[in-house]
Parts: sequence; structure tokens; C-alpha cells
Amino acid sequence: MNHLKALIREVPDFPKPGILFYDITTLLKDAEGLHLLIDELGAAYAGKGIDKVVGIEARGFIFAPAVAYALNAGFVPVRKPKKLPAVTERVEYQLEYGTDALEIHRDAVDAGENVLIVDDVLATGGTARAVTQLVEKLGGKVAGLGFVIELDFLKGREKLSGYDIRAMLHY
Ligand code: AMP
Repeated sequence: MNHLKALIREVPDFPKPGILFYDITTLLKDAEGLHLLIDELGAAYAGKGIDKVVGIEARGFIFAPAVAYALNAGFVPVRKPKKLPAVTERVEYQLEYGTDALEIHRDAVDAGENVLIVDDVLATGGTARAVTQLVEKLGGKVAGLGFVIELDFLKGREKLSGYDIRAMLHY
């Protein structure tokens, strides 16, 4: 899997000075890379009865639907505030400076459904934890969280203890 690192573009000082941004568009445009990405993100959950795959705005929207398709599951978007048109649940979470919020349609997940959450990068874990809270508010069971990249040194996993977390690539 590590050879995929060659397909990930590292952009220094984006979106602000001091951040090394892991750009997956260079992996997505590679036919073999994209194939592997979709297969790998879903592989551990094939045949495990995943009902919904939740993608997080915005980059999670690029591949969560493909993972859902591969697993014969439905796709559910989690979006920034005020983007979803129907009745929503909302959760606020802490950023380095201030707070942010995410929303899910209240009827997007039924009680007892098995949910896989996917996103491109697990950094501090704040975003992913907020999404687990949204899914659980609706009565869904978080079967796992899948990421393309995990930034091990930020210890996002510690905010997600008790969950099955998988990342294809570690930095
Ligand atoms: P966090 O809540 O800190 O785990 O941040 C996760 C979100 O921020 C993910 O949705 C990523 O898309 C994005 N992100 C954070 N750090 C990076 C990074 N170094 N490169 C690319 N995306 C990042």
C-alpha cells in the first residue's frame, strides 16, 4: 500500500503557513490508484452488513458514494451548517480557534443501522468524532471509520477510542 504515497501530492503551507497539505487529487486521477482506494476503504467491511456509508463534506463526497456502491450500501452526506434542506441534527465541535458545526438529515440513518464513516484525512480527529456523534444521535451504530491518510503524530485516534479505525496510509 505504501507505494501509493508516491501518488499523494504534499503541498507545504496550504491552506495556511505551517500546514503540510496531503492532496489526494493526484491519487484520484490515477485509474489504478482510484480503484485501489475504493476497494481498500470498503474491503474490511464487505459482507458485514453495512447499511450506510457516511461521507464528510467536502472531500469525503468524492469517494464515499463509490465505497457505498461497492458495499451495496446507501450513501449519506454530512454537511456544513445550513446546506441540507430538510430537518437536521447538528453537532458543534472544537477547532484550534473557535468552533465549527456539522449537520445530517434526521431521516438519513435509521435506528440500528450499521454505518461506515469515510474521509480523506484523519488529523486531530475532531471532525470524525463529531460525525460519530451525529450518527449515534440518530440511533445508528458506527461499524467503523475509514481514511485514506492518518496523521499519526496528531493522535486523532485517541479521540475515537472504542471504534474500528482503518487508514490506508500513515504519516
Ligand atoms: P481533523 O478534524 O483535525 O481530524 O481534520 C480532519 C479534516 O481536515 C479532514 O476532513 C481533512 O480533509 C482535513 N485535513 C486536516 N489536516 C489535513 C492535512 N494536513 N492535509 C489534508 N487535509 C487535512
